Amino acid sequence: MKITHHVSDELLLDYSSGALSEAWSIAVAAHLSKCSHCRATYSELEEVGGALLTGSSAGDVSDDIFENVLERLDDDKGFSAKEVKKNAEWAGSFGIPTVVADYLPTNSTNLPWKSLGLGVNQIVLDTKDKSATARLLKIPAGKKVPHHSHHGRELTVVFSGGFTDVTGDYGPGDIQELGGDVEHQPWVREGEDCVCLAVTDAPLKFSNVAVRLAQPLIGI
Ligand SMILES: [Zn+2]
Repeated sequence: MKITHHVSDELLLDYSSGALSEAWSIAVAAHLSKCSHCRATYSELEEVGGALLTGSSAGDVSDDIFENVLERLDDDKGFSAKEVKKNAEWAGSFGIPTVVADYLPTNSTNLPWKSLGLGVNQIVLDTKDKSATARLLKIPAGKKVPHHSHHGRELTVVFSGGFTDVTGDYGPGDIQELGGDVEHQPWVREGEDCVCLAVTDAPLKFSNVAVRLAQPLIGI
């Protein structure tokens, strides 16, 4: 997996200090589960943060916390059926990491996709986060998502397939961090549906009036 889009330092710092709410944290953790580069940076931040908190040297950082995180990340390597939770084996076929699969219903044999129209499907993750929404999206190969910008921040982590927009080309493992100022029209790669996690803290702003009118109905 060649990852070219990483978590920004600011976001990683917020994540490591616990400043991110649940929905954003899932996106960062999902990227970390795929990206050894960011895991290494995260480890360093943890050491520095731990040392600052305890006023001791980096070597004395609580091993427990650190190892728990690493264990969780290790769970996602490779996605063999054994490593992915048994009742979430189907999630592995889309490259969905455990940190996301943990939020999906466990009593169904198939992912409970809900149609958003235009062939796009979503599953809203069942978090306790009231400030942001995390949703799994499946967008058909070759599809253009309607033009939109954002009232707030949007994080997207790709699990399978990929997309291109004005900011670049995104494939499995890549994370996209957008502020409210960017208007974009993601275009899904040909050949494979794009399954990704999208976290938003406000409704998207679609340029197309018809799409905007339908927003309350489709819940995005
Ligand atoms: Zn990374």
